[in-house]
Amino acid sequence: MTTNNNSVQVSVLGLGAMGSALADALLKAGHATTVWNRTPGKADALVARGAQVAATAGDAVRSGRLVIACLLDHASVHEVLDPLADELAGRTLINVTTTSPAESRELAAWAARAGIAYLDGGIMAVPHMIGRPGSSVLYSGSADVFHQYEPLLELWGASTYFGEDAGLASLYDLALLAGMYVMFAGFLHGAAMVAPVGVTASEFATRAAPWLTAMTGAFQGFAEVVDGGDYTVERQQSLLFSDLGHILAASADQGISTEVVAMVQRLIRRQIDAGHGEEGFARIIESIKQPG
Ligand code: NDP
Repeated sequence: MTTNNNSVQVSVLGLGAMGSALADALLKAGHATTVWNRTPGKADALVARGAQVAATAGDAVRSGRLVIACLLDHASVHEVLDPLADELAGRTLINVTTTSPAESRELAAWAARAGIAYLDGGIMAVPHMIGRPGSSVLYSGSADVFHQYEPLLELWGASTYFGEDAGLASLYDLALLAGMYVMFAGFLHGAAMVAPVGVTASEFATRAAPWLTAMTGAFQGFAEVVDGGDYTVERQQSLLFSDLGHILAASADQGISTEVVAMVQRLIRRQIDAGHGEEGFARIIESIKQPG
């Protein structure tokens, strides 16, 4: 542990892969860090690096002005914190456990009733990225908490604050993950398409990664059309041109599921059937906004 003149007395609840990475970054920066985990034995490496280990969550809360919760889910956060509401009163809680926007708002309301300053966080990184380039953490809830602890939060990754509505960080988090999972499914669909001709997924990945990276350059153009609300603007690929029938047919010929591509085709088709076939591809957002 290095010396830090601005050391914060901080407690980390939850030493899974992520909680341990967060605590480690705090220790490296010289913050006086107390850690607690439901199952004993997970703190050993952190203790060797200077952490204090608390026997109970209550002991951990009492030893810090700032409490970080990095548990499994919303239910586990309540399970651990509900009995400690009185001890948490007057302290600050930053919860980086993944929760839905509604759950984040519920926890913020619970904290407000208990007199706890509350900031909600959504981590856009995997544990080994914490404190390294590419890691970012999204926050919403108390602006005072965010600004007071911003230098500490920056230890984990680039921090962005979205506003007082505690659900916003989670909403952004899940919206970004939605894009990621659909992209991953698209990549894996492509890998499944070429597999029957003996192409390995690894070989396919070497082609898919630069291709998809280049295609992210189209996001801004789509976004400008969506924000402008006029899908008839020129130089866009039309919905009729974007028909995915040939990809569906080729996928079926390869003997694989067509579900991934069929999902996109349905979004396109609804707009074509509604008479918008000459309009741009970005118009499929209207299919998404208005469930069929
Ligand atoms: P792990 O599964 O590695 O750890 C889960 C932690 O939660 C453990 O400390 C576990 O304790 C604790 N826990 C689970 N249930 C309870 C309970 N009922 N009471 C007390 N403690 C409980 O998960 P991660 O550390 O990877 O993830 C933690 C949070 O961070 C999650 O919300 C996750 O979504 C989020 N996150 C994780 C990322 C990742 O890549 N790992 C990325 C972004 C966000 P015990 O050891 O006793 O089981």
